[in-house]
Amino acid sequence: KTVLELKHVNKVYPNGVKGLDDINFTVHEGEFVAVVGLSGAGKSTLFNSINRMIDVTDGQVLVDGTDITKVNGKELRRMRRKIGMIFQSFNLVNRTTVQKNVLAGRTGYYPTWKTLLGIYSKEDKQQAVVQLEKVNMVKKLYRRADQLSGGQKQRVAIARTLMQNPTLVLADEPVASLDPKTSKGVMDDLYNLKKHEHITVLVNLHSMELALKYADRIIGLRDGKLVYNKPIAEANEAD
Ligand code: ADP
Ligand code: ADP
Repeated sequence: KTVLELKHVNKVYPNGVKGLDDINFTVHEGEFVAVVGLSGAGKSTLFNSINRMIDVTDGQVLVDGTDITKVNGKELRRMRRKIGMIFQSFNLVNRTTVQKNVLAGRTGYYPTWKTLLGIYSKEDKQQAVVQLEKVNMVKKLYRRADQLSGGQKQRVAIARTLMQNPTLVLADEPVASLDPKTSKGVMDDLYNLKKHEHITVLVNLHSMELALKYADRIIGLRDGKLVYNKPIAEANEAD
């Protein structure tokens, strides 16, 4: 089953820079794909196009068969709920608890008046514990986010994303600010999304070593162009 397909995607910024230049690729359900490339290669532009944080200039971005570049309103909200986001800077609300941060994932981009006031159902609270168990962070449930280490913050961010029940997770340099040992722990947690829940993961990495260790396939970008797209077995023997 195909979870993500890009067809002839171009993104030209107002200043004329081609962020993406005729990008075509397909990602299957449960694949763990590493996106690599130097700074300025187009990795952020690619991720922002997939969840429609930016509008592409032309082309199709099919998420679960629907072109996200063509939908609006309710349908766009529904599609974004299926796309989990993990950021280099974690994007937790620092002054509030791990529990509240994870519960916020329940509605993703679109809070309701109840969730804005911090009112959650018993079921949601139980779900938050279930997700935190997966990243071994239940013991920090009532800890404030700003009291956690970087690795712990990222694991809470993974639990938050799981509250959305995503089919696709986009992790934009999730370990760039972490030391090697902590990075490995976070990468293991991300890999478990694929392994145990069959979630498709796209991860933008600076480290080729991590890409080779974890990914099923490596996609390489340079100057907005897709210059590399190989399963890991071929990547290992050829390069
Ligand atoms: P990264 O390499 O992690 O994408 P950058 O420092 O290149 O980080 O970019 C940081 C932010 O600035 C991004 O949101 C990007 O879209 C924006 N940006 C990058 N280059 C330009 C540019 N030439 N003009 C305007 N905004 C830019
Ligand atoms: P990466 O994430 O691989 O570092 P980006 O997607 O951030 O690459 O950037 C790709 C190219 O697009 C770079 O040349 C960057 O300067 C440019 N760019 C990114 N965002 C903007 C923007 N908002 N306006 C203009 N140019 C941008």
